[in-house]
Amino acid sequence: MSSTENADSASDPDSASDPDSASGPDRTPPAPYAPPRPRTPPLPQPPPQPPRAPGAPRTTVNGGISFWYAEEGLPAPREPLQGDANADVVIVGGGYTGLWTAYYLKKAAPFLRITVLEQKFCGYGASGRNGGWLYNGIAGRDRYARLHGHEAAVRLQEAMNATVAEVVRVAGEEGIEADVHRGGVLEVAYTPAQLARLKAFHETELSYGEKDRELYGARETADRVRVADAVGSTWTPHGARLHPVKLLKGLAAAVEALGVTIHESTPVTEIRPKHAVTPYGTVRAPYVLRCTEGFTASLKGHRRTWLPMNSSMIATEPLTAAQWESVGWEGRETLGDMAHAYMYAQRTADGRIALGGRGVPYRFGSRTDNDGRTQASTVEALHGLLLRLFPQLSGIAVDHAWSGVLGVPRDWCASVTLDRATGLGWAGGYVGSGVATANLAARTLRDLVQRDSGQSGETDLTTLPWVEHKVRKWEPEPFRWLGVHGMYATYRAADRREVTTRAAQSSRIARFADRVAGR
Ligand SMILES: Cc1cc2nc3c(=O)[nH]c(=O)nc-3n(C[C@H](O)[C@H](O)[C@H](O)COP(=O)(O)OP(=O)(O)OC[C@H]3O[C@@H](n4cnc5c(N)ncnc54)[C@H](O)[C@@H]3O)c2cc1C
Repeated sequence: MSSTENADSASDPDSASDPDSASGPDRTPPAPYAPPRPRTPPLPQPPPQPPRAPGAPRTTVNGGISFWYAEEGLPAPREPLQGDANADVVIVGGGYTGLWTAYYLKKAAPFLRITVLEQKFCGYGASGRNGGWLYNGIAGRDRYARLHGHEAAVRLQEAMNATVAEVVRVAGEEGIEADVHRGGVLEVAYTPAQLARLKAFHETELSYGEKDRELYGARETADRVRVADAVGSTWTPHGARLHPVKLLKGLAAAVEALGVTIHESTPVTEIRPKHAVTPYGTVRAPYVLRCTEGFTASLKGHRRTWLPMNSSMIATEPLTAAQWESVGWEGRETLGDMAHAYMYAQRTADGRIALGGRGVPYRFGSRTDNDGRTQASTVEALHGLLLRLFPQLSGIAVDHAWSGVLGVPRDWCASVTLDRATGLGWAGGYVGSGVATANLAARTLRDLVQRDSGQSGETDLTTLPWVEHKVRKWEPEPFRWLGVHGMYATYRAADRREVTTRAAQSSRIARFADRVAGR
């Protein structure tokens, strides 16, 4: 294992055994109407990776938001809000959801005055840290089928399939070079129990209309990617690998070019009808759209709305040609597995493997990480998982490790809402599937605002089953922390048992954990 270096000066983040030691954002709201600050100095850049002498250990950068910024550099901050302002639509959060919403609304109605308020910089959240799986998965589809009928869920799935193509289309139209490779999504099984789940999953996806999905045996799987012990896989064409930050930066630039105002370093402390309140002034607008995903708990009144679930990633050093020869993966599919605590990976454009998984799932009190730093134990676990999948890469160094937060609603269902009475809207709760979903959510928010303001009627999107879905809040602490940690401890135990026993059935304890968690 390579040594670990922090990209910032803060103390170690929390560990599972010490939930209270978590470092998180400063929750003390600054005094209202404090004098506007000058431009916030940029965050320290992660140190460049020095060339490695043969045999010398390589340093793992931990944090610095994510590996994607080590390549791209952290952006120069845009101006914060400078006092009270008015707009037609104010969007809180400069991730994919907020920026896509601004993009589609401004395109549809160029006369609208749209302001985006971002607490740090656009792409500070999951949109600047994710695994770059642009794919057609959406959290909650099966529950929506139960609530609204199978046909409604098929429509939702078809909208997601089309969304993958839509993101690629707009990126092309706007000249956003985001290392997009449309290799589809390959999910592999490497235990008999995983294979049983894989087959069931494959059948389910076919039933939602994915006629172009394929099921592969061990040999066909190895022809694509040589994952140790793989016994089968399922592949869908509805997926692409991309560079998250290149997409994000290009999108932010496109939004600005359309005439949308973006204020960074501007935390919104409270959202109420027609008001987004910040320490530097209040933006008043008939529509206030909350696009804050895993950070939602920091807003007044939202502590238990969506749980900030951690996901952590590592990026290896670039593989040599011989190493790639041993791995295969020429189709550059996004790669996942069927473990209960699943992993996701991509072959990056510069020839590395970026791989993610759960790590410490949740920080006590809905706290978030410190600029992407993750626990040393998580880095070790992900490195171990990488070598379990690709033992032929033994000795490979990890160049970067980081983490971020997803938004998880109590029923694990993504949703989009615009409340007609108040003009308050929101989208998110994507769990781990937000790169494409945020785009669909944004187009839906556009249609909802247009419908509400009388510019259009119902559309194919406003009638999708995830629109205006209601969900209860999470339990108060310590039950929230105990529940999530218990659930993931159970998943890990189930995964271990399935590997050691080679049982053909999914572990019953994992099914029990699913039920208790409300999934
Ligand atoms: C490590 C990791 C890997 C992932 N991998 C994948 C993947 O491969 N494929 C996939 O589909 N999904 C993946 N996801 C999920 C996906 O990245 C997210 O669902 C998606 O980016 C959410 O976009 P968003 O704009 O809703 O939220 P975010 O990108 O989190 O943006 C929210 C923004 O709001 C800002 N903000 C928050 N609170 C405030 C406030 N009070 N005032 C002002 N601004 C505020 C934040 O700073 C942030 O910039 C991953 C997530 C993580 C963390």
